[in-house]
Amino acid sequence: MRSNEEQIFDEYIRSTGLRETEQRKRVLKTFLATTEHVSVEDMYRIVNEKSRKVGYATVYRTMKLIAESGLAVEVVFNDGIARFEHRLGRKHHHHLVCTNCGKVIEFESTAMDRGEQEVLAKYKFRQTSHHYEIFGFCRECQSESRDG
Ligand SMILES: [Zn+2]
Ligand SMILES: [Zn+2]
Ligand SMILES: [Zn+2]
Repeated sequence: MRSNEEQIFDEYIRSTGLRETEQRKRVLKTFLATTEHVSVEDMYRIVNEKSRKVGYATVYRTMKLIAESGLAVEVVFNDGIARFEHRLGRKHHHHLVCTNCGKVIEFESTAMDRGEQEVLAKYKFRQTSHHYEIFGFCRECQSESRDG
């Protein structure tokens, strides 16, 4: 059975005049099973864990298509690598990024959401999207540096 996500992707692919291939489907299914923020590199590795069939360029292009279809959003942390996370059914959130171990903590803040709305109203700015990342050291990495 096809999931809602597969249907959205299929419709998007058709609207662009491309065809939905087995390889693209495999990349999509693999992505839908992820829970973290995955880079193209990560996706390439996971997709080809069992059998090496899908090329890097295909994985790259498919991830872009998945983002364009609205199922994923691209986020860039301090290392400059584009990562993808699920968008459908996800609440708007921001990230705390540990620059030491790379851990990413997601958080929601109604106070920040309100602040964003205030700023938009003040400058009469119509936003299409935004990302907000706070960089620093997670709790574990802080105690590590304290211990020497
Ligand atoms: Zn850390
Ligand atoms: Zn996230
Ligand atoms: Zn926000």
